[in-house]
Amino acid sequence: MKRWKTLLVLACGAALTGGVLAISAEEPSAAEVAPRSDGRPLVLATFTVIADMAAVIGGETVEVESITKPGAEVHGYEPTASDLKAAEEADLILENGMGLEAWFERFTANNDAPRALVSRGIDEVAIEGGEYDGRVNPHAWMSPEAGQIYAANIAAALTQLDPQHGDQYWSRYHAYAAELSGIAAELTAGLAQIPPQNRALVTCEGAFSYLTRTAGISEAYLWPVNAESTSTPRQVAATIDFVKANRVPAVFCESTVSDAAARAVADETDATFGGTLYVDSLSSADGPVPTYLELLRSVVRTVVSGLTGAAAIG
Ligand SMILES: [Zn+2]
Repeated sequence: MKRWKTLLVLACGAALTGGVLAISAEEPSAAEVAPRSDGRPLVLATFTVIADMAAVIGGETVEVESITKPGAEVHGYEPTASDLKAAEEADLILENGMGLEAWFERFTANNDAPRALVSRGIDEVAIEGGEYDGRVNPHAWMSPEAGQIYAANIAAALTQLDPQHGDQYWSRYHAYAAELSGIAAELTAGLAQIPPQNRALVTCEGAFSYLTRTAGISEAYLWPVNAESTSTPRQVAATIDFVKANRVPAVFCESTVSDAAARAVADETDATFGGTLYVDSLSSADGPVPTYLELLRSVVRTVVSGLTGAAAIG
């Protein structure tokens, strides 16, 4: 029955997209998909950051999986048939929304699992420039304050799914929110070391609008969303102008895209290349940012040390 439903979804998707359907051929056979025997609810997140938050708040009483894997670029992801099967079996689907997972919504329109929008209640920021101009910037999780809203939405969704363990979910939420407050304080203290005129974050993707809003600093970027992931000569020139005009000490780039354009900006200005920022994906467990909290801490450390290091020289 489930297999039949999957095929139907595939067929509908093919019809909607004129037959050009990006499904990879790596679907395991039905026998290869291990059934869940422990009875825990399966919570399916669209990407690793949300999955990690759900795993922390859900603890041992839920099983959490992410559709996109560590290191994967989330914006232009193409779901596989086994992703669709996982979605069919999920008891709860957690999604960022704000246009991040258009690829996912299109393929799971017939899914009857409860869905929770973890960004509900976030004060949205619009994208400026490029083909996505005017749309909502989806990267709210990069602000530790917004991360607390995500965590509360996840705790609420888990409690609705599994009321019996609601107290545990909310208790873990409070501990997690306190950690996020600590990271926000670390960011504020770090930025306070940097002269106000040097407090600008220049990156490849415009993924830091929520973080810079929280921190009260300006931002510039080479392209608005990684779905584009290339910069035009005009964007590079504009970024060079911004860096020169604001005497920005360092520029950065994200882990899931090439940093060549950001390095080119550094070459053309007095800025240094400040390092890699993690945004759209966690790393694997043995990598530098295996959790959401580590991802945020890594960004805060890299940005503060990049901007203070160069500021000390200049
Ligand atoms: Zn992104």
